[in-house]
Amino acid sequence: MAKKLCIKTYGCQMNVYDSGRMADLLAPLGYATTDEAAEADLVILNTCHIREKAGEKVYSDVGRLRNLRAERMAAGGAPLTIAVAGCTAQAEGEEIMRRAPAVDLVVGPQAYHRLPELIARAHRSKGEALDTEFPAESKFDHLPQQSRVEGTAAFLTIQEGCDKFCTFCVVPYTRGAETSRPVAAVLAEAAHLARLGAQEITLLGQNVNAYHGEAPEGGAPWSLGRLAHALAEVPGIARIRYTTSHPRDMDDELIAAHGTLPALMPFLHLPVQSGADRILEAMNRRHTADDYRRLVERLRQARPDLALSSDFIVGFPGESEKEFQATLDLAAEIGFAQAYSFKYSPRPGTPASMMADSLSEDVKSERLARLQAVIADGQRRFNDACVGRTMPVLFDRPGRHEGQLIGRSPYMQAVHAEVPAALSGRILDVTIESAHPNSLGGRLAADPAEAAA
Ligand code: SF4
Repeated sequence: MAKKLCIKTYGCQMNVYDSGRMADLLAPLGYATTDEAAEADLVILNTCHIREKAGEKVYSDVGRLRNLRAERMAAGGAPLTIAVAGCTAQAEGEEIMRRAPAVDLVVGPQAYHRLPELIARAHRSKGEALDTEFPAESKFDHLPQQSRVEGTAAFLTIQEGCDKFCTFCVVPYTRGAETSRPVAAVLAEAAHLARLGAQEITLLGQNVNAYHGEAPEGGAPWSLGRLAHALAEVPGIARIRYTTSHPRDMDDELIAAHGTLPALMPFLHLPVQSGADRILEAMNRRHTADDYRRLVERLRQARPDLALSSDFIVGFPGESEKEFQATLDLAAEIGFAQAYSFKYSPRPGTPASMMADSLSEDVKSERLARLQAVIADGQRRFNDACVGRTMPVLFDRPGRHEGQLIGRSPYMQAVHAEVPAALSGRILDVTIESAHPNSLGGRLAADPAEAAA
């Protein structure tokens, strides 16, 4: 009988991608996936270390799994193997093994291609399976190809790690130095994903626009802009996105690609974090608020309909009301189509965690609410401005109502329209008729029979 694997994924899209690859890696060993930990033989907690109390969350999840295992063993059931993967595993691996003896193995994000070996070791001798090294070999050389694509969109990791060392962030410590996959490997994986039905690929990396992959025929490494041009030539790939970018790595070639490459979607996640130069410096972001403004201007010159999203941290140590106001001003001025905003909280081991966390929770909460109101206003304006426009929508799932499909606009909005189910998986022009906080409604610009032709 097939063994069951349950992967619980926290955090970012890179973890979603990694979880899929772990499932692919374990499938040849007889593991079929399940969403239910209760029926699993192996549970992997693929953790995130960005949010507060990440470690505590792991311990409480492990506690629940330990109880599940005890109940099952008492009832004469099958054993349960508990694994912790991801960034918390990398950052707190030894501590996890010490504090949570129920955990059978811990594996960091750069070593999960060794999972089969670690599982075998864990089964042989409990407590010795800890792998949080940054191995010299690339895990990508040891992973099987992805076996399926859900819908029409797929993730493709092209870059990992970060050399920027923003003072609030754990990524340089958990994911290591910046590395890029060779161009040939990326193109081969994109072609494979297209054969599985992907029309839209999102290129992933902690610092994806720092991409500098080995060229296929030697010579200088390729930048992300050049790679995007080559990916647009892969048969079946109609749309390309990438995330997450650092403002300092938006080079001329990538900016130009936004103007010349229709497949490169006009929606860019470009974190700014703060609108105050002193705070940006304390964060070690290595750009000013005006650098960011100029960059957005250049991007919009290249692609006038470009929509932007961003990340903000409010209440960074020492942030004054005036500095916070500079963040509000920047957010209002740029007019983000969407953005993520968080209250600052220290991550253990980061330089910012040594700074006095000077602002009270009340002040941070109040600032966050003000910023989120500005962001929501920008998002509403952007969605409202879409009404009356005709835009290509990639439909790939049924809507809530009979006869309705939902798809994605070029700007990542969910769009619902009356579309025959047979046209799911197609990119169709839609005239937008209504805007909602998180979605748009519209009608096919052409008669469905014409659209299907
Ligand atoms: S650039 Fe991003 S991943 Fe790198 S340290 Fe800064 S916030 Fe973290």
